[in-house]
Amino acid sequence: LKPVPSDIEISRSCTPKPIDRLAREIGLFSEEVELYGKTKAKVQLDTIKRLKDQPDGKYVVVTGITPTPLGEGKSTTTVGLVQALGAHLNLNVFACVRQPSQGPTFGIKGGAAGGGYSQVIPMEEFNLHLTGDIHAITAANNLVAAAIDARMFHESTQSDKALFNRLVPLSSGQRKFSPIQLNRLKRLGIEKSDPSALTEDEISRFVLRLDIDPDTITWQRVMDTNDRFLRKITIGQSPTEKGFTRTTQFDISVASEIMAVLALTSGLEDMRQRLAKMVVASSRSGVPITTEDLGVSGALTVLMRDAIKPNLMQTLEGTPVFVHAGPFANIAHGNSSILADKIALKLVGPEGFVVTEAGFGADIGMEKFFNIKCRYSGLRPHVVVLVATVRALKMHGGGPTVTAGLPLPKEYTDENLELLEKGCSNLKKQVENAKAFGVPVVVAVNAFKTDTDAELDLVCSLAKAAGAFDAVRCSHWAEGGAGAVALGQAVQKAANSPSDFRFLYDVELPIVDKIRIIAQKIYGADDVELLPEAQQKVEVYTKQGFGNLPICMAKTHLSLSHDPEKKGVPTGFILPIRDIRASVGAGFLYPLVGTMSTMPGLPTRPCFYDIDLDPETEQINGLF
Ligand code: ADP
Repeated sequence: LKPVPSDIEISRSCTPKPIDRLAREIGLFSEEVELYGKTKAKVQLDTIKRLKDQPDGKYVVVTGITPTPLGEGKSTTTVGLVQALGAHLNLNVFACVRQPSQGPTFGIKGGAAGGGYSQVIPMEEFNLHLTGDIHAITAANNLVAAAIDARMFHESTQSDKALFNRLVPLSSGQRKFSPIQLNRLKRLGIEKSDPSALTEDEISRFVLRLDIDPDTITWQRVMDTNDRFLRKITIGQSPTEKGFTRTTQFDISVASEIMAVLALTSGLEDMRQRLAKMVVASSRSGVPITTEDLGVSGALTVLMRDAIKPNLMQTLEGTPVFVHAGPFANIAHGNSSILADKIALKLVGPEGFVVTEAGFGADIGMEKFFNIKCRYSGLRPHVVVLVATVRALKMHGGGPTVTAGLPLPKEYTDENLELLEKGCSNLKKQVENAKAFGVPVVVAVNAFKTDTDAELDLVCSLAKAAGAFDAVRCSHWAEGGAGAVALGQAVQKAANSPSDFRFLYDVELPIVDKIRIIAQKIYGADDVELLPEAQQKVEVYTKQGFGNLPICMAKTHLSLSHDPEKKGVPTGFILPIRDIRASVGAGFLYPLVGTMSTMPGLPTRPCFYDIDLDPETEQINGLF
């Protein structure tokens, strides 16, 4: 239709096929599929085992230039591309995307199901609770937080003997160890089953005081709401906590290490191990304290038992989609799950295509896709699709600020080749960033209705001059898969061309060297500067044996630099590293660049102003 109706109107106008039918069509057995209503299902991990001898399909990652705050259509292009490859070029396809956080859905950016005629449907299901994975992560994360504070409280208010008596309670007038406790005693080399027979020393070892140093706690509580007033809070103010107050903070749920574990895990056993290895603090003598030390990792695995299974949905044109894990790319690693990609690659077979999306620009989501996700998965992508828009490139050329909810200034709606050509410096740099990993790059110019032929042609020719394998304009937002057929063909060609994949850095390098390589080669910084807190963490983590983890930079997505105001290709800057956290279970170190916050805030007019439910029809209005 022209004009193109709203995303939610399009989504609602199309009746999705029953998800069990789609599952059958793509070769899943009914026992591998757990239905969540008619349009969503979870797929069991055993599917990988069944298909282990099936060769993988082609693996494509979608990334973008440095975006405006409105987003430049990466999700839309991911969906448009699979619709083109699947419904128009008749190939087996899968899209693998992240589950959106409710922070942006109700905050600034809205949903993330794609847009126009390239969407995952039903978009309400996709954008809201889906199958509860983010809620499971929130619950698991906060169980750890509660365990830390309760542990410190109980340790400091009770003697070893009193703690022991509480841990081994009286049952029928007698103290008895539980089977888990007997196992623990065995591991400690104490071969006794009668609690009254333990010596004082054995009681102390059994109780194991963690002696957590409150100043070293790096584990935060989380919530999936943009709530800026939780960026710094004081806990423990009730008299029942006897003065054990502490300053702490909330992060957004999708920044939780448990989200990163979900995205990077290779299976249930591996997830159990990662959930046990998470380091939450140090003891007063400098020993790292893990979730296993807190005794909580088994319970975390139980809470995450269903979340580990990828969620099956579909596009508007009936092709399959996995929606699984949803870390942000600025403050987390920004990629959907390895498990979803792996199952999808088996299901599509050797001639098929799996298109996975890395969040935000190529400097952050794609860099982390290669250096973190591909390092852990062992998968090697065949093609990078780099999404560019005329409007973002004009902004990089010096166009006025683009603000969500306000009309675009005329620089963006009228032809302006000069501004556009200047801004293509950002495109050139991001093509070079993608090529640094040795994979062919296809630039997808996502066309908006105000773009002119001359503008779209200019972007294509400058992209090719910058070294892209190909550059094509596409109109999948307005036309669905039919509008991305040329992109699909270019991707097919690129997937069959030679590639020479390489990581950007060796994980064995010192922490600062790895950070510097990313800062200089990808962001274009002159150097990095570690502030005292970050410097101290480098020493601690190196000493604790975590120095050889890959790096997950927390940096603004709105600039190649740390300053969101600096557009185009900023030069002559030193990248400030404020602090570093260690996500040992997920498997990376997490430097915080500049003033980056791990809890977003709400704007003056958040998206939730427009969202409502029609009680007559039970339809949701105002989501986009
Ligand atoms: P990203 O994944 O890069 O953040 P999205 O795909 O979520 O971006 O798109 C952001 C918003 O822009 C969505 O609301 C989408 O409908 C809209 N959009 C994307 N491409 C176009 C286009 N070509 N014309 C008009 N709107 C578009």
